[in-house]
Amino acid sequence: PSTLRTTSISVDRVTWSDIGGLDEVKQKLQQAVEWPIIHRDTFARLGLAAPRGVLLYGPPGCSKTTLVKVIASTSGASFHSVNGAALYSPFVGDSEREIRTTFARARASAPSIIFFDEVDAIVGKRSLEKASGGGSGGRGGDSVQERVLSALLNEMDGIEAARGVLVVGATNRPDMIDAALMRPGRFDRILYVPPPSQEARHQILKIYTKSMPVSPDVDLKIISGERTNRYTGADLKAVCREAAMEALRESMGVGVVQRKHFDAALKAVTPTLSDEMLKQY
Ligand code: ATP
Repeated sequence: PSTLRTTSISVDRVTWSDIGGLDEVKQKLQQAVEWPIIHRDTFARLGLAAPRGVLLYGPPGCSKTTLVKVIASTSGASFHSVNGAALYSPFVGDSEREIRTTFARARASAPSIIFFDEVDAIVGKRSLEKASGGGSGGRGGDSVQERVLSALLNEMDGIEAARGVLVVGATNRPDMIDAALMRPGRFDRILYVPPPSQEARHQILKIYTKSMPVSPDVDLKIISGERTNRYTGADLKAVCREAAMEALRESMGVGVVQRKHFDAALKAVTPTLSDEMLKQY
């Protein structure tokens, strides 16, 4: 098996317990995504429409991508991932084709989840206004971005809810959340993925030190306090890695991670979040 294949298998193995905190988001995602897939017949019998699109927004590094991967693997849906920023090829037309092909593949392997990471790159505000008819260009605008957005909206409009294709978008840019994408039948569920609370930070630190020899002088509960207030899940993962590296540097081979190593790691890894940044959410 190729390296690539191994990587994608390990990615598929992420479970809810790999994500610290976020109990409310996890529950809402399960309701929005898993229920319609797992209880598809019941939904149909009750005449309940499954959501077609779920948009996750929130600060970077707080596990939006990981949540979607877990949802795909626990619900047994096939997973199709498209990066909004990487979508643009130098050849006009290719990115539209990419969108159509992705939806076709997803329909053929339903139930399925199409994940648009950095969806704001596709739905830049200017093109959004035009695509929703607000600008002079209408749906027929000629920038690549407008055509890509148009292709996305058309595909989303064409999804039959009963066919079990769900689009999940993720963005760090709440200001990009705009009317055209929020219409019923498009991104009709919007979930905020917040920065980790103190309890969540404690859980995250536990997750990433699980298989580390940690000295009894390390108190993860204390580390998860005020001191890591502006750290994201990704930052905390980096802190644990850095602490282990500190221990390794100091004593090759012995490597028990002590409090002083965490102190050094917390100096080396600065928090991603700031009050200024959090204001926009
Ligand atoms: P971005 O917006 O930058 O793409 P994201 O919100 O999609 O970020 P992920 O890519 O899912 O975040 O997370 C980044 C890394 O941090 C991943 O390795 C993830 O496992 C880890 N991480 C983030 N939040 C948590 C958490 N609550 N529990 C465990 N790991 C987390």
